[in-house]
Amino acid sequence: MAKAKASELDWNKLGFGYRDLPYSWQEEYYDGEWLGGGLTSESNLVLNEAAQVLHYGQEVFEGLKAYRTKDGKVQLFRPEENAKRLNDSADRLMMPHYPVDKFLAAVKAVVKANEDFVPPYGTGGTLYLRPYMIGTQPLVGVTPSEHFVFRVYATPVGAYVKGLTPMPYVLSKYDRAAPAGTGRAKTSGNYAASLLPEMEAKKAGYADALYLDPKEHKYVDEFSGANFFGVTKDGQFVTPKSDSILPSITKRSLLQVAEDLGLNPVEKRLTLADLDDLAEAGAMGTAAVISPVGSLTDWDGKKHVFYSETEVGPVTTKLYNALFAVQVGDAEDKHGWVVPVD
Ligand SMILES: *Cc1c(COP(=O)(O)O)cnc(C)c1O
Repeated sequence: MAKAKASELDWNKLGFGYRDLPYSWQEEYYDGEWLGGGLTSESNLVLNEAAQVLHYGQEVFEGLKAYRTKDGKVQLFRPEENAKRLNDSADRLMMPHYPVDKFLAAVKAVVKANEDFVPPYGTGGTLYLRPYMIGTQPLVGVTPSEHFVFRVYATPVGAYVKGLTPMPYVLSKYDRAAPAGTGRAKTSGNYAASLLPEMEAKKAGYADALYLDPKEHKYVDEFSGANFFGVTKDGQFVTPKSDSILPSITKRSLLQVAEDLGLNPVEKRLTLADLDDLAEAGAMGTAAVISPVGSLTDWDGKKHVFYSETEVGPVTTKLYNALFAVQVGDAEDKHGWVVPVD
């Protein structure tokens, strides 16, 4: 695959595809220690055919973005939270930690080395960063790998969806995670499990499937790659509390933003009946910040319509604008979330 050229990109039509950029970061782990990392222009990996990750799935990953500000600078949003979460995921998958300071240095180095690919302010585009770690030891028996590779690649992406457009969602009959499984870890296996439910939902005309808690199928969990929130008629910002969902950094940030905006932030178990109290609903994650949920069709075919199937609600709009303004440097960073790349 040929390397991308920044001069050939149309910043307003980036989409969400992979582009092969000049530099990635790589560090290998061997005999209990990290061997020293650095930038590499090689974007292909050579793995033994028996590498642990290919058969037994030892993989953890992160997703974050570099944002171009109005004055042309580049900044990250809460990257140390990604570093810590990578290590939490690694614990569950029996993988080594990648030290937080090294994670931050790696991410910054990749942004700087590919700075021409950070889209201009105002285009809605960002430089998406994908840190990840895989088990590379050749193994036949099912055991944790003792060799690992940590890498970070970058690719420019457009606004996930242009503007805030409500979409129809459907309640999934599948589970994405098990009750005491890997739902809290950001690991590829959860995504493999969500492919069929997501594609079936899309074929049926929905944007994605919403999962219930895998133990009782009574409480709302989350989407395949985003957490769920609702705004109640009496001004609560509610989001599910569950042991099988991925702790979204966007969720944690919006809980704070909601409080700043005078809403009452609440994390609690949310039943399907509770959905009828919601005036607005949305999906939240790094990719889109917020995707408004226009409607949710449940197992009985009952359609819960939130604010409107075609128009985004006022609170969702306020939450989105407030958080995105901090991410691109238009609003004051009251909570110390922004990290400049200099
Ligand atoms: C990454 C992810 C999210 C969103 O997390 P952010 O930190 O907000 O990007 C939500 N759910 C799942 C399953 C995820 O993998």
